[in-house]
Amino acid sequence: MRLLMYSKALYSTWIYYSADRILFDAGEGASSILGNKAFAVRHVFLSHGHADHIGGLIGLVNIRNNAMGDREKELTVHYPKGNYLVTEMMNFIARTNRRLSYSLEWVPLQPGDRIGLLAGQLPRYVEAFPTVHVHNEVSLGYNVVEVRHRLKPELAGAPQEEIVARVKAEGKESISEYYDQKLFSYGGDSVAIKPAYVADTEVLCHDTTFLDEEDRKEYKHATLSEAIACAREARVKKELFCFHISSRYNARLREIEAASGRYDGLDFKVTLVPPGRIYSVD
Ligand SMILES: [Zn+2]
Ligand SMILES: [Zn+2]
Repeated sequence: MRLLMYSKALYSTWIYYSADRILFDAGEGASSILGNKAFAVRHVFLSHGHADHIGGLIGLVNIRNNAMGDREKELTVHYPKGNYLVTEMMNFIARTNRRLSYSLEWVPLQPGDRIGLLAGQLPRYVEAFPTVHVHNEVSLGYNVVEVRHRLKPELAGAPQEEIVARVKAEGKESISEYYDQKLFSYGGDSVAIKPAYVADTEVLCHDTTFLDEEDRKEYKHATLSEAIACAREARVKKELFCFHISSRYNARLREIEAASGRYDGLDFKVTLVPPGRIYSVD
């Protein structure tokens, strides 16, 4: 899974998920750090309208209209329906970019809405789920989901002859079933995410603004222990990315980097994304 991310609470957060050419949030500096990859972005999914998550949209929209690259590639920005700050940004961008060389579409989403994706051999979609951040700020998280095919669980371990006989009698479809596998879950800014929304995901990105509970004065963001508890309850399969870490911990960057790794009792790797660094994952 290739990811490029930058996340520092209050300043800027964005994550480029290259498999499906998705930019999750668009904090300041996204396009200048993405460089030519800014043209590769097909979808932007905004978690909410705070400046540190949408401040880079102006640059992204502009660069795709002016820099060297395919200026005709369409771009779709998905955002939480009814979000006032995002709507104001949308209006500003529309008024100041009357002649875009490409089609720019804005799509409001509600929890449960699904957006089909084109990339990949198996069908994929993004599904929005609700998050809790600030009471007057509508916010969403997103799952990238792949539709897979498998042998029906009741046939696991069944003798080959039985399976062949069943296919002959009832057809090929009778032995298999489709299921949805979450590949990547992005929570944006939030307090602890309800584990059911990200259940069995392979990779989870969870708000980890505070490493220590006593640093949290208002209930708007999550702590490291809440992020880990959510990932454990959700049975995350591969990795938990703890992002949106406050820059108050800048003096502890080495400690933050050293804290990443495997922990006893956890089935997934824990990675703390150091605030203020460009972080890439291959
Ligand atoms: Zn934020
Ligand atoms: Zn926020």
